[in-house]
Amino acid sequence: MTTAEGLAQVEQRIRAACERAGRPRGAVELIAVSKLHPAARIREAYAAGQRAFGENYAQELRDKAEALSDLPGLRWHAIGPLQANKAKYVARTAHAFHALDRLEVAQELSKRRTGAPLRCFLQINVGDEATKSGVRPEDAAALAEAVRGLPGLELVGLTALPPLLDDPAAMRPFFRTLRELAGKLGLSELSMGTTHDFEVAIEEGATSVRVGTAIFGERPA
Ligand SMILES: *Cc1c(COP(=O)(O)O)cnc(C)c1O
Repeated sequence: MTTAEGLAQVEQRIRAACERAGRPRGAVELIAVSKLHPAARIREAYAAGQRAFGENYAQELRDKAEALSDLPGLRWHAIGPLQANKAKYVARTAHAFHALDRLEVAQELSKRRTGAPLRCFLQINVGDEATKSGVRPEDAAALAEAVRGLPGLELVGLTALPPLLDDPAAMRPFFRTLRELAGKLGLSELSMGTTHDFEVAIEEGATSVRVGTAIFGERPA
């Protein structure tokens, strides 16, 4: 399967999920998760019309942003956990950051950001999993308030990576929890859903889905 074919298939599935949910296609942004794939694959996706790309690792993002700086309109989404000492790479290159879960990182991003505000999503540990990053739901309001006071950042929504259950439909309650929490915090954007479960996430209100494998195939080891 070529990159263009992978994108077209995912696009079709997004359209069908939007239709089922009675939502316009324009309400959901597809972020093509390109982590660990070479820059050449991103060029292929770009040539097929894709503009939003997701990367997990700050240095990989920095290197790819440099290698692909000739592509106008390409938007980088930093989607992985970030250490404060690498925040500069995200602040310089990213359109959005989906994994904010610590004030220290927010402060560093704020200090380093120039130009348009960085669109930030708080990552919520909806499954209360010890092994996962993300802020606990009960701590989200305090972090949201602190982030809202920082220049250079625009808090727009919430992200979740719920526990991976074999049946994607069984993940609905986690997506709903995220949606309800966003409502309470006055946030309109929901970054949720991966290859495994993006259709269910769209039915539950996702405004961004982060899809890698279904577009690019398995990641190189
Ligand atoms: C890798 C990754 C994805 C994409 O996962 P796929 O299963 O390849 O679609 C989405 N979100 C985050 C945070 C990731 O790290």
